[in-house]
Amino acid sequence: MSSDKGTGIKFMDRNPPAFSEDFARRIAEQEFALKGEFTALVSERDQNFMVRENGSAWVLKISNAGEAEDVIDFQTRALDHLERQDPGLPVPRVRRNVEGNAIRWVEGPDGARHMVRAVSFLPGTMLDDATLTPDLLHDVGASAARLDRAFRGFFHPGAANPHPWDLSRAANLRPHTSHIADKASRKAAEETLDHFGSEVAPRLEGLRHQVIHADAGGANLVVDPEANRVTGIIDFGDMMFAPLINELSLLLDFLRPAVDDRLALMEAAVAGYDIGLALEEDEVDLIYDLVLARYAQTMTIIAWRRAETPDQPDYLHELEPICGRAIDELASIGRDAVRARLRRAICYPPYCAVGDADTPEADDDGALLARRHNSLGEHLLLTYDNPVHVERGRGPWLYDANGRAMLDGYNNVPTVGHSHPHVARAVGRQMAALATNTRYLYQVIIDYAEQLADTFPGDLGACIFVNSGSEANDVAWQISRFLTGKRGGIIMEDAYHGITEALTAFSPHHGKALEPHMRALMPPDPYRGPYGAGEPDLAAKYAADVDRAIAELGEAGLGTACVMIDSSFCSNGVPDVPEDYLRLVTEKVRAAGGLFIADEVQFGFGRPGSHMWGFESYGAQADIVTLGKPVGNGIPLGVVVTTPEILDAFGKEVGMFSTFGGNPVACAAGSAVLDVIAREGLVERAGKTGEYLREGLRGLMNKHPLIGDVRGRGLIAGVEIVKDRESREPARAEMERILNRMRALGVLTGQEGHFGNIFKIRPNLSFQPEHADILIGVMDQALSEM
Ligand code: PMP
Repeated sequence: MSSDKGTGIKFMDRNPPAFSEDFARRIAEQEFALKGEFTALVSERDQNFMVRENGSAWVLKISNAGEAEDVIDFQTRALDHLERQDPGLPVPRVRRNVEGNAIRWVEGPDGARHMVRAVSFLPGTMLDDATLTPDLLHDVGASAARLDRAFRGFFHPGAANPHPWDLSRAANLRPHTSHIADKASRKAAEETLDHFGSEVAPRLEGLRHQVIHADAGGANLVVDPEANRVTGIIDFGDMMFAPLINELSLLLDFLRPAVDDRLALMEAAVAGYDIGLALEEDEVDLIYDLVLARYAQTMTIIAWRRAETPDQPDYLHELEPICGRAIDELASIGRDAVRARLRRAICYPPYCAVGDADTPEADDDGALLARRHNSLGEHLLLTYDNPVHVERGRGPWLYDANGRAMLDGYNNVPTVGHSHPHVARAVGRQMAALATNTRYLYQVIIDYAEQLADTFPGDLGACIFVNSGSEANDVAWQISRFLTGKRGGIIMEDAYHGITEALTAFSPHHGKALEPHMRALMPPDPYRGPYGAGEPDLAAKYAADVDRAIAELGEAGLGTACVMIDSSFCSNGVPDVPEDYLRLVTEKVRAAGGLFIADEVQFGFGRPGSHMWGFESYGAQADIVTLGKPVGNGIPLGVVVTTPEILDAFGKEVGMFSTFGGNPVACAAGSAVLDVIAREGLVERAGKTGEYLREGLRGLMNKHPLIGDVRGRGLIAGVEIVKDRESREPARAEMERILNRMRALGVLTGQEGHFGNIFKIRPNLSFQPEHADILIGVMDQALSEM
């Protein structure tokens, strides 16, 4: 045995024992009660015989004299463990000898002691000899995953022994690449191992580890090529405790050059593995480098051990040039392309280089835009002069395709934070369990409806589940007409409530004329309206406009079925609404026989800071509440919440069923959102952060006369940009320049208001004062540059 002090690697004796067949027969018969047709097999290190015994076949293995007992014990216990965990797994069974032991020690003619054991033989074609198809590779991946699942929980001291073929430590071989004769191959191996040592090995350390087979490739998988199935996994001599992803990577290394469409085969194996055992994102991203490193490792070990043990047979020499070519070929496809294909194969979104310092710039967005235009048309709006290409989000951050972080001060849909893990898992777990519709009885919808009802005051809490804010508002409008028998509706000027045909009448923003059955209220905006802040009876003065609307609808013979109000008054530019205004308006509408529909699509779910729902924060009571946007943190979900009496009266006459409305996956998302709001104290945080944000924004007014007004409530702020504070003339062009400059500096905000001159700052509820500081700093810089 030859060993190297630097790596701890020992090269095993490759001269197998040489017992006579007669001796082997005797041992088999006397010790293992195994009698039958005997055939010698070829082995690099051991002496093996096949023994066919009426119908079954066994391999009698006489170990190399240099083999340690704990190595064999490791294999015996591993196979026993696999048999217990997954009895159907096609791996060899260990035969016990007449004394009930797995091993029998024998003395050879040379006086050395050897271990003898017998394991069952698994017949079939070796994967190396089969035609490789994606179907077969899919099952290869699935079988490896099944094996690794069965391995979980198993350990043996032998698993920690240093192993020359431990891929995680491939970089330790770097000093020995000098033995590779071919110059180009040597260079490829060196570059591969250098990159592996500095970039890959440190990342592997933090990944899942367990005992793995570590060589479940072409020479150790038995297959049925007709059925494209793996029928056996053999040779557990290379097992080790290692990163789990090494298993799949080591299995892929047998796909060497000359295989047609290597990437399609890799993809099939990765997809097959992932179905059996879900791959983590960091794992799939390392496969390319692991496979490359395996080729470099193979080349180096072969060359090195040939030099160290020149007197021993060299079975693997033909692999050296093959591995050199394999590196070249895979490298010519490139890390980015391989990673993109493998990620796509198991439905990970495109790679986004968050925290990856040496990632090249992603492709020009031009190509992506052209594809978008082709398939979605050119009129689907994109925000900002230079559109944001995002592939990832976390908390208040979005990441562009190059991994550059952008602070999201605008999007309220991911209300508990972009891609919150609790919600993401809820969706994944529910999707993996059940996705159906409300024609069936299932629990998650009821749990969620109850959880949601608990957040509402009074009798509110009866739910109708739909799929968007528009649908919720449309249903609410239907309910109000049905219950009141009236046909007129009241909204705010510039309101937006959705896209259905009925709701276009509720959405006269962009200066559209009002439809005859609608009346719009003057916005309660003390900054631009006729009544300014500090005036007495401010709320009553603005609320008086609803008397006019009610009277007009009455005169037109329509009556007032409802008033629908977005409780954040977003499209009115987030004015500082006088405290009593909403209560007064809704009481007047009720007195006229109409209902108050509180559209909480923008403001609901804790954004008010003081309360969960906007209408409550104004001391008003709603008859119907509509929920959209933030409900599912991004999963489409809309809810109409009303009282049991209203729901009953409506439901009795108008049966309503929405295929996706209330589906288990959406409900799981909704429920997870409520969990997070409660667990992370997001309502209170929204209030505190909102105050902090506005205070900072008001601070900017000292420096920047372009800011006419800063206002808002909870975690929403409006910043009005004006030509000068005296005239209050709206400065839309300036606002847009600041907005786009802030986007370039990495902070996203939005545009609102009748004149389009108002910043809408409406981040998700994971936003904290430290993020507010960043936003304010960037706004300061953009304003200074004006
Ligand atoms: N109501 C309000 C106040 C909204 O802001 C929106 C969407 N911007 C809607 C309703 C419509 O919701 P959805 O886009 O989910 O149909």
